[in-house]
Amino acid sequence: MVSRVIPVDPFDLVVFGATGDLAKRKILPGLFHRFTVGQMPEDARVIGAARSDMDNTAFQALVRQSLLEFVPNADDLTAELDLFLSKLSYVCVDAKGTKGWDNLVSELRPDTIRAFYLSVTPSLFGAIAANMNAHGIATKDSRIVVEKPFGHDLASAKALNSELRRNFEESQIYRIDHYLGKETVQNLMALRFANSLWEPLWNSTHIDHVQITVAESLGVEGRGEYYDKSGAMRDMVQNHLMQLLCLTAMEPPSRLTPNAVRDEKVKVIEALEPVEQSDIVRGQYRGRDGEGSYRDHAGDPESLTESFVAMKVKVGNWRWSGTPFYLRTGKKLRARTSEIAVVFRDPPHMIFPALEGRRGNALIIRLQPDEGITLRTTIKEPGPGGMRLAEVSLDMTFAEALGADAEAQDAYERLIMDVIRGDQTLFMRGDEVEAAWAWADPIISGWEESRLAPARYDPGSSGPEDALMLMHREGRRWREIEV
Ligand code: NAP
Repeated sequence: MVSRVIPVDPFDLVVFGATGDLAKRKILPGLFHRFTVGQMPEDARVIGAARSDMDNTAFQALVRQSLLEFVPNADDLTAELDLFLSKLSYVCVDAKGTKGWDNLVSELRPDTIRAFYLSVTPSLFGAIAANMNAHGIATKDSRIVVEKPFGHDLASAKALNSELRRNFEESQIYRIDHYLGKETVQNLMALRFANSLWEPLWNSTHIDHVQITVAESLGVEGRGEYYDKSGAMRDMVQNHLMQLLCLTAMEPPSRLTPNAVRDEKVKVIEALEPVEQSDIVRGQYRGRDGEGSYRDHAGDPESLTESFVAMKVKVGNWRWSGTPFYLRTGKKLRARTSEIAVVFRDPPHMIFPALEGRRGNALIIRLQPDEGITLRTTIKEPGPGGMRLAEVSLDMTFAEALGADAEAQDAYERLIMDVIRGDQTLFMRGDEVEAAWAWADPIISGWEESRLAPARYDPGSSGPEDALMLMHREGRRWREIEV
């Protein structure tokens, strides 16, 4: 399919934390890709801002190095690279102090869209927002992008929201969750609301359960100490898995506007029933073959933080009563896989005895490694031999169906372009984040009070045995985490 890239309006994008890991690995490579496909207009500017003292030339050299490292074919794109780098400048700014702010003011053009990407620790959000206002940098339609984690609990999320709202309107705040920038996640909305096929089936009458898995094969090496303060529930479930759950469970919005979509997502979170501790399994990976355990990496031999969590969640509303959602995420698992599996009920009357107890239809929405959609169906095996049945998958991999452009687009670059366009649909609203914390907080505080150790699991496995039981006891089973 021919790529249909629509250039955005000219912009000044300030990346606070431009020398940091996220900027180097995702933000700047993403912008470079948008530039190479022609989405960045001629006079777009990217202004890096961080504490390190350097000039434009040194910053451009740093970015060149990152692009060569993180963009697969960057060394074949010398001319594009030079042109892109010429759009970059750098200002040394102290987020908490006064240094550099006047220089930043002079970098910005009047009457041009301004976006400010805060790729820094959330403890700097308030200071940066206040400094921006004090220096008159934020115009009425400036956009501010903030990274996860958005709070550690409900109280800290509320505090962050009020810090940001002191200086910006909600319509200017873009809380990023890069899962929402994935092609398949948006396709879930297209699949559900642009087709008449699914909607009549999308309820507890026809859907037995939904499984949402975000499995990572890597452990917490290198960021163990940081992760240990958070755990899988805060790091993954409260945000990424919750977003996937919302998009799967939400009612059709009346129109495709940011607030109509986000209103429906908030309603899902508010409909979540409190989760029983008996419906949750927490895990922590062991060490093996000289590879350290979770506790080794966390630097705490007695850490009770979970590197894995699986749970059964009930959405208490008319559509989903009787259809549980099983969520599962963890580190050091068998493979890096993310998917939503919508598993349909068996036919009410089975005329094929051989199919008794076998898995029914399922719609699998795969987020990684290869974004795509699979429909699991049963058909008759071709040829003689009577009515022999076989399970087949109707598969659509976006890269194949839609061409290389779809494959190459990263969530970050898509979301940054949405910021420039002023489209908040794929960003979390303040009340949405708070609702998700209000749901997660009692679960986490229950663990903190009980001080029960998470179950241990082997690296390279599918998590603790108990997690399998969570579904087995109800006659269901997890899909394999496929390598
Ligand atoms: P990082 O590598 O530690 O980079 C932090 C950046 O902040 C650096 O550019 C640093 O500048 C700048 N900075 C620190 N203190 C500053 C100050 N007082 N004034 C101005 N700039 C200051 O962090 P990161 O991994 O890029 O993460 C950035 C944010 O994104 C964090 O909130 C993180 O949780 C979130 N995030 C990161 C990832 C990821 O994959 N890395 C993924 C999701 C979310 P100097 O280096 O010049 O001091």
